[in-house]
Amino acid sequence: GSVLSVRGLRKDFTLHTIDGRVVEALHGVDLDVAPGEHVALAGTSGAGKSTLLRCVYRTYLAGGGHIWFRTAAGDLVDVAALPDATVADLRGHEIGYVSQFLKAQPRRSVLTTVASAGTARGMARDAAREAAAAALRQVGIAEHLWDMHATVLSGGQKQRVNIAAGTIAPPRLLLLDEPVSALDPANRSAVLDLIARLERTGTAVLSVFHDLDAIERLATRVVVLGGGRVLASGPPEQILRDS
Ligand code: ADP
Ligand code: ADP
Repeated sequence: GSVLSVRGLRKDFTLHTIDGRVVEALHGVDLDVAPGEHVALAGTSGAGKSTLLRCVYRTYLAGGGHIWFRTAAGDLVDVAALPDATVADLRGHEIGYVSQFLKAQPRRSVLTTVASAGTARGMARDAAREAAAAALRQVGIAEHLWDMHATVLSGGQKQRVNIAAGTIAPPRLLLLDEPVSALDPANRSAVLDLIARLERTGTAVLSVFHDLDAIERLATRVVVLGGGRVLASGPPEQILRDS
């Protein structure tokens, strides 16, 4: 069974223009992600990829349709219709989201930033600090940076701290929105390895990557969006060859 089943998802935005024009970002999207599957969203800029991820994470409230999510307890919940209080719980325990930007808390060290993502998901404090150290090593953040404030890091360092925090206690479903956009090839490769390892633990991933080789390396399936609709879906080799 799927962890995520999106059905007929719609989302409109009313623009802040004089005539209040409406942009239809998603026009009835269907999509499934199974445990251990990595579905990469592809399509031109403005196709609706980020909007889809944000509807699943409930940053945006869907304008129509259903976002069925299978919880660890086996319950099927519609993220599009959940009360806000339940959404917070789901985000804390089952659905993770990593954007290209780290939301660094002021006066919090790099190590604490990552470790607190673990304690928020129920890890014991010491275990979380150990796991945070391991994750930071893996994404190539040198130890002398661990007690610095996360706010002072470079863009690429922040991005690596963000992915360490987002993967320290892997959620059932991980949403990735261009998590390697600011990284040089070596660091990028280390982060992609970390994501590949997650999939083998059964985490379901729904991602947006700008570069085709990340999709080729990680995705088990590619879903191409265009104008808010699903244009194609299939194995990466097939989709990347046809497009
Ligand atoms: P992609 O991630 O594929 O580049 P987006 O999901 O960011 O596409 O955008 C899809 C469409 O929705 C675009 O036309 C974009 O301008 C519009 N859009 C996205 N977010 C907003 C927003 N917060 N307000 C208004 N329009 C938005
Ligand atoms: P997209 O998915 O369309 O590439 P993002 O969702 O990553 O765009 O961000 C939308 C805009 O908001 C970007 O132009 C970015 O500059 C800004 N933004 C979003 N989150 C942050 C953040 N945490 N810090 C700084 N800027 C941010």
